Amino acid sequence: LLSWLIVVVANTIVLSHALTQPCSSSSLQAHGIKVISPELVCDNATLTLASTDYGHTSHEKPLAVLEPTSLTQISKLIKLSNSLSTPFTIAARAQAHSIHGQAMAREGIVVNMTNLNRYRHGRGIVIVRNEKDAWSSYADVGGEQTWVDLLHAALEYGLTPVTWTDSLDLSIGGTLSNAGTGGEAFRFGPQITNVYELDVITGKGDYVTCSAKKNSKLFYAVLGGLGQFGIITRARIALAPSKPRAKWLRMIYTEFPAFIKDKKHLSSFNGRRDDKAPDYVEGAFLIKGWQNNIAFYPTQDLPRVNSLINNHTIVYVLELVKYYNNSTQAQIDQEIENLIKGFKFVPTFKFEKDVAYEEFINRNKDFSTILKTSGLSEAPNAWLNIFIPASRIFDINEAVFKGIVVKQNITSFGVSLIIPMNRTKWNDKMSAAIPDEEFFYLVTLLHIVTPDKLASTNAQNNQIMEFCKKSGIGIKEYLPYNKTLEEWKEHFGPKWPILEARKDEFDPKRILSPGQKIFNN
Ligand code: FAD
Repeated sequence: LLSWLIVVVANTIVLSHALTQPCSSSSLQAHGIKVISPELVCDNATLTLASTDYGHTSHEKPLAVLEPTSLTQISKLIKLSNSLSTPFTIAARAQAHSIHGQAMAREGIVVNMTNLNRYRHGRGIVIVRNEKDAWSSYADVGGEQTWVDLLHAALEYGLTPVTWTDSLDLSIGGTLSNAGTGGEAFRFGPQITNVYELDVITGKGDYVTCSAKKNSKLFYAVLGGLGQFGIITRARIALAPSKPRAKWLRMIYTEFPAFIKDKKHLSSFNGRRDDKAPDYVEGAFLIKGWQNNIAFYPTQDLPRVNSLINNHTIVYVLELVKYYNNSTQAQIDQEIENLIKGFKFVPTFKFEKDVAYEEFINRNKDFSTILKTSGLSEAPNAWLNIFIPASRIFDINEAVFKGIVVKQNITSFGVSLIIPMNRTKWNDKMSAAIPDEEFFYLVTLLHIVTPDKLASTNAQNNQIMEFCKKSGIGIKEYLPYNKTLEEWKEHFGPKWPILEARKDEFDPKRILSPGQKIFNN
């Protein structure tokens, strides 16, 4: 086949190909875009897909979807929009695992990033192993690639990213636009602080390589920048040596103070290569009917786990993982004993598994199958993710967990998470907003509900946000959404003027990621 020929003529993208199939939408032409190409697609099925995401609550139809076969096409599309007196908006859409329409562009153009993968010719993930110091290894990864694909590619070299999200079916560009948080973040920070370099196409259509040393303003803007400043087309991700096995523990507590004290102890090991440190620390509360991977517990123990929950209404699970090499198998149990010495979980409620590293890291791979089996794969998601300063976590336990969530218990499928974070492992120059305290928690309430429960679950989330506001708890929402301009200003606090200046510099026409509803509220 002939290669693509792209000509931009007076506000017109003309893409020619031997098998030209024009996207003959009159609404496109009304926006000054004359497009003849099978790459700019307007058929109903594609537009419907582009107006759908994981949340199943927002639907914003674009004018067209670009199925890019090169980065130049994305750059030209953005430049075209810039050249118009009324620019159209453009949203990168990768795995569409956002839940409030953040990857949508009503009456704009959605760029289907996943299409790039087909045109990378195997160059979507390149692993560079440093033989002298494996901790200085890295991967050059296309922004459209998923973390699960990076996991598999890195493991072939005995390497791994150092910090993960709980689910791996997310794109590199999508998580780096937020933060990318999980059980390793207390030690290594979120995914955004484990990136050495980025290639970005800015909101002006410029292709820029940036890092902490080169074009650093753009680098810091894009990381945690909610897609507002540029489209990430490549990220250089930090890699470290991998270990083949994972010792995976869950300890159940009935007393919240003991749970928090022990979790804090584990989270204080934040040295980068400290072999004594736990590798992963998360936690959760368990209440009647909530899920939290209950399948983890041995079948014969499930009745007593459930009766502990029933007797106490709410219990807390501290989750700890340590990775190990086969050569250190003999020591691993002792190392874990040393880590949890004196811990006050309920005696006999310590459960453990010994699994392959990949099995642990990709432990949520069946999540969508579980939802399907529960008849909830198309159900609305009403999630709330909030960073809580450590000094106020007891207020959250009393007023939110016990006072609101347990009392109302309205969910169809609920998952909770309480994940520790050390502020020193974040970088304040980046766009992401976090609480103003050295130690904080990510509290996640994942509700997947039948449509009749959506309104009451949203009302519950609003009630929680209202409580935090009234009580002066300096929370920051993670994966924030649905805010007024005033609320966005409050969300970013002192960073707001910096973000405005970054927007003026890198996307002055307010073209990118309109679904976040920040600058085009
Ligand atoms: P999309 O939904 O496609 O896009 C999200 C936003 O990023 C949009 O604004 C889009 O325009 C922008 N964007 C997409 N690609 C790019 C790019 N290349 N450059 C610039 N901007 C871009 N988050 C965590 O931190 N930790 C977790 O453990 C975690 N677990 C999750 C589990 C599930 C089941 C789900 C549904 C979400 C989870 N998330 C988690 C949230 C997730 O990280 C974000 O929603 C992320 O944006 C999803 O990536 P995506 O590829 O689906 O992005």
